[in-house]
Amino acid sequence: MKHSVLLVEDEHDIRELLEYNLTRDGFNVRAVGTGEQALSQVNAAAPDLILLDLMLPGMDGLQVCRKLKSDSSTANIPIVMLTAKDEESDIVTGLELGADDYVTKPFSPKVVVARARAILRRKNEPIPGEEEVLNFDQLTIHPGRREVSVAGEAIELTNSEFRILHHMARRPGWVFSRYQLVDAVHGEKHAVSDRSVDVMIVGLRRKLGECGNYIETVRGVGYRFRV
Ligand code: CA
Repeated sequence: MKHSVLLVEDEHDIRELLEYNLTRDGFNVRAVGTGEQALSQVNAAAPDLILLDLMLPGMDGLQVCRKLKSDSSTANIPIVMLTAKDEESDIVTGLELGADDYVTKPFSPKVVVARARAILRRKNEPIPGEEEVLNFDQLTIHPGRREVSVAGEAIELTNSEFRILHHMARRPGWVFSRYQLVDAVHGEKHAVSDRSVDVMIVGLRRKLGECGNYIETVRGVGYRFRV
């Protein structure tokens, strides 16, 4: 079965290039140039995935994202944002609104196609249960016992460090903003500075030693657990 993609991009050349590459890769593509058109296309028939440019004339990409993610009938459609490098704060906002990933311009169409495939694959993979033991080569996370070990050696983590690590490791490859990690540790609407997450990450990496590089910094945006 072909996956359907809705491509929202006002720059004609980029739209054509992506449309060509996605179609060649076996996607069923609809391409539009405005946020308003995007919403009416989604209402007509929900796509499997949306590639959404953020800088659009009229209704911008973040408004489109907010609208789709706040409506339960469209909230589950994965969104990959297409952004300029200097739109870091928009990327963070988009992730917090529920966008799944982003690609910065200029990009190779191959990267966009690969990202789209990865998102659709992830969507069909169940997220491991809260108590499920996670194994990554040398690193083992045992949520039931709140234990983490590296090469068989138990590592002492604070409660917050454990929760951040577990939250990211359950979804390898996903990017989390600092604010999302604060939520994961303290519950929603807790007044903790997002910089305190940076401090926890430093501590976590140090304690994990050779496995510390599982936690990747996504510059200007947040963190992710390496795939
Ligand atoms: Ca644009």
